Amino acid sequence: MALDRRLDPTMSGVFWSDTVKESSIDTAPDDGMARYDLVVIGGGYCGLSTALHSAKRGLRVAVVEAGRVGNGASGRNGGFVVPQFPKNVKPSDVVSHIGKKRGDRLCEIVTNGPSHVFDQVRQNQIACDAEQNGWIQPAHSEASLEKVRAVYEEWKAFGADVTWLDRSDVHDQTGAAGYLGGWKNPTGGYINPYSLSRGLARVARNQGVDIFEDTRAESIERESEHPVVIAQGRRFAASKVLVATNGYTDGLWPGLQRTVIPLRLFHTVSRPLTPDQQEKVLPGRLCFTDLRKSGGFCRYDEGSRLVSGGAVFPVGDVRRSGMSHAEARVSLYFPQLKGIEFDYYWEGYCALTETYLPSFQVLDRDVFAVLGFSTRGVALAQAIGPELARFLSEDMALDDMPLHIGENQPIPRQGLKSFLGQYAFPVLKALDRFDLS
Ligand SMILES: Cc1cc2nc3c(=O)[nH]c(=O)nc-3n(C[C@H](O)[C@H](O)[C@H](O)COP(=O)(O)OP(=O)(O)OC[C@H]3O[C@@H](n4cnc5c(N)ncnc54)[C@H](O)[C@@H]3O)c2cc1C
Repeated sequence: MALDRRLDPTMSGVFWSDTVKESSIDTAPDDGMARYDLVVIGGGYCGLSTALHSAKRGLRVAVVEAGRVGNGASGRNGGFVVPQFPKNVKPSDVVSHIGKKRGDRLCEIVTNGPSHVFDQVRQNQIACDAEQNGWIQPAHSEASLEKVRAVYEEWKAFGADVTWLDRSDVHDQTGAAGYLGGWKNPTGGYINPYSLSRGLARVARNQGVDIFEDTRAESIERESEHPVVIAQGRRFAASKVLVATNGYTDGLWPGLQRTVIPLRLFHTVSRPLTPDQQEKVLPGRLCFTDLRKSGGFCRYDEGSRLVSGGAVFPVGDVRRSGMSHAEARVSLYFPQLKGIEFDYYWEGYCALTETYLPSFQVLDRDVFAVLGFSTRGVALAQAIGPELARFLSEDMALDDMPLHIGENQPIPRQGLKSFLGQYAFPVLKALDRFDLS
């Protein structure tokens, strides 16, 4: 789908935009520097964090963003800050994909990811309603109990700050019905994602990064040996270029769109819960994400509304079916909330790889891309920024990059997989209903 159809700079219907506390930033003036050490394309968490940490290392950096900062997934997500890979991906899976040294480093970044985010929020006084009360991965079925237990065992052996919870512990801590056990990491939590995007942009700008909003990069050309980003009549010459466009990747670089599978997701926000309801529902204000294939997760916002969502099934009235899915899901966890009303609905896109791990693509000797943060980018897309900055400032060899390294190879049958990804939601719901996930 064309970028213009996915992007909505007005953020219409997005709850986080109605409750944002950080101001929008001033876009850099037209007479910005003609030549940068690094031009980053995409003003989400990944682009902003990489820009910020590269500027801290002394590089002259520009960010070129098609809409406004945070208009992509970074301003539209659920705000869960999670110290785990997607699904039941375990440290050993990561090591088998990218090797022991780089795999262990990526695991460290993931398990410390929430601390990176919450420390950054505290140090820079980013007003994003951050709450760090812990995150739980509970098991909703016998099959998932085995998977969740294996994930826990591996993190424990890795040295992460994790605790096993039995059935009654999960119930006491979440108030949710039906879970058979689970594990907890106390460093997880949640934020207002749009506020965090804007706050990160403020910090990057104060560090000297030039941020150009409403400036869509259309191509990357070569001029006297250096790449030049062409963006709506402007030219940004650079020593290096990083494409950080994730689920909003367009035809900017031939073939790049086919290295990931786009996923269209929705979120909903309920009316505020009463004080009585809050005593029983998520009493410690922590958050959880289970392994249901059609999405099982819940958190509060600052005003004690519940935030939930899932994948968009693009048939019929998507808003209505999204809200009714959220109502059914929330009343499954908390039967006393049956009939709860949701008054916000919005959508966004993220990008998956086949391993559920992000991938670093070498497009040319000085042009790179990092894509595939899946549904775990709130912590990881930011926490990977310092690593990318080390590489881009030539303080780390490519072989040490703690990500899968590719060269713009398409995912086999990417078109078919993207199509199935869009239309599989009812099948995934059925698998969940029959405890097959
Ligand atoms: C509805 C939803 C809920 C989610 N919930 C969670 C969650 O609770 N927890 C979690 O960890 N993750 C979640 N995610 C995933 C997470 O939001 C993403 O992984 C993360 O935001 C990716 O950050 P990013 O910077 O790589 O990409 P994005 O934030 O998507 O930024 C990419 C940017 O690139 C820009 N762009 C694209 N093309 C161009 C161009 N040609 N020129 C200039 N700019 C361009 C876009 O405008 C966009 O701003 C969710 C995602 C969605 C969609």
